[in-house]
Amino acid sequence: MQLSDQNQYTIQGIAPAQLVEQFGSPLYVYDGQTIRRKAAALQKAFSGVNMKIKFACKSNTNLAVLRLMREIGVELDVVSPGELEMGKLAGYQANQITFTPSGVPFYEVKEAVEAGAIVNVDSLPLLEWFGQTFGNTKPCLIRIKPNVAAGGHAKIMTAHADSKFGISVLLLDQILEIVKKYDIKIIGLHQHTGSDIKDAEPFLKVADILFETAKHFPDLEIVDLGGGFKVSYMPGDAITDMELLGNKITARFKKFCSEYGRELQLWFEPGKFLVSESGNLLVTTTVVKEDPARNFVHVDSGLNHLIRPMMYGSYHHILNTSNPTGEEKPYNVVGYICETDTFASDRHLPEVRQGDILAFLNAGAYGFTMSSNYNARFRPAEVLVDNGEARLVRRRETLEDLLLTQQGL
Ligand SMILES: *Cc1c(COP(=O)(O)O)cnc(C)c1O
Repeated sequence: MQLSDQNQYTIQGIAPAQLVEQFGSPLYVYDGQTIRRKAAALQKAFSGVNMKIKFACKSNTNLAVLRLMREIGVELDVVSPGELEMGKLAGYQANQITFTPSGVPFYEVKEAVEAGAIVNVDSLPLLEWFGQTFGNTKPCLIRIKPNVAAGGHAKIMTAHADSKFGISVLLLDQILEIVKKYDIKIIGLHQHTGSDIKDAEPFLKVADILFETAKHFPDLEIVDLGGGFKVSYMPGDAITDMELLGNKITARFKKFCSEYGRELQLWFEPGKFLVSESGNLLVTTTVVKEDPARNFVHVDSGLNHLIRPMMYGSYHHILNTSNPTGEEKPYNVVGYICETDTFASDRHLPEVRQGDILAFLNAGAYGFTMSSNYNARFRPAEVLVDNGEARLVRRRETLEDLLLTQQGL
């Protein structure tokens, strides 16, 4: 993704209009180079410790993206059996995949463990069942809820006291009791604070809580600090300073390891950080309505393709790639779904005309994976641009895809 020249927005030199002409509209386009750059930045920031990246693939499960991750040494964090299967299809060994469930049926955990994945146990009943089922024959991690509130929106805060995720750190005695009763092999402690966390402070705070808790578990190999790094949503946006965060956490982690008496692995599970900025949703303007109250730009997409703005008010920068030098006007950019699906309100864009191609940025994470067939609409195609070449990595859906599971046609 390049914004070097304001007038010429391209994805590795390829113009959005060319992509839409070749692959149709709307279209998800991912820039492989951006993914490589982000992963390298994270690897560099933590080069002083034994760090592993586990891509939170609920943010993007396209197999081409997963294969790219594997190629650059990034492993996987999955939240469902389906994601586990996708990981295996992308060529991962099961033991490179961590299953981080949230209150799932225990048979899903059983299948994942038997397949060879490592599980983050997220409740006391699951821990008890894990002990009964596997005793000390299978290792696991425990997902701790550190009771720290941080994140960009209530729906993406996952570590505060009221959050449904993990086992409260206040229940440590009960955790230890169950672990002892079944001699469960706890090889790691995990936590995930939430999403869109800019500052180092919340990460350091939860790290300290995990380090403190870790003293009660003698067999640890891993401390997993989850994901949630904030990315840039618009030019000049404040983001997680990875170098600073890396320095600070590295120092504390090293101190912790020396106190603990062993070199542990430090894991992170970024989703957004790795893929958000790599993605564009390209859409075409269907109608421009100059209403007395507002100018509306309708596009050939909606909450069925990109629900983040409607679900948690997320900001997606929008470029009018067809008329970049047009006179700026305020618009409400809206979808074609029969429900109010506003992508952006009162957004200043270069004059938008029917047929103009708009690019919604930051569409690489929680874009396609959250899409649906609402209004019996088809999901868009996905394209990966890598090494200057655009490749179709998922075809556009058709009516047959929608009817595939219906009976009695
Ligand atoms: C969603 C999720 C992540 C990734 O969060 P991002 O904000 O995309 O980095 C990491 N870990 C777990 C357990 C998750 O559920």
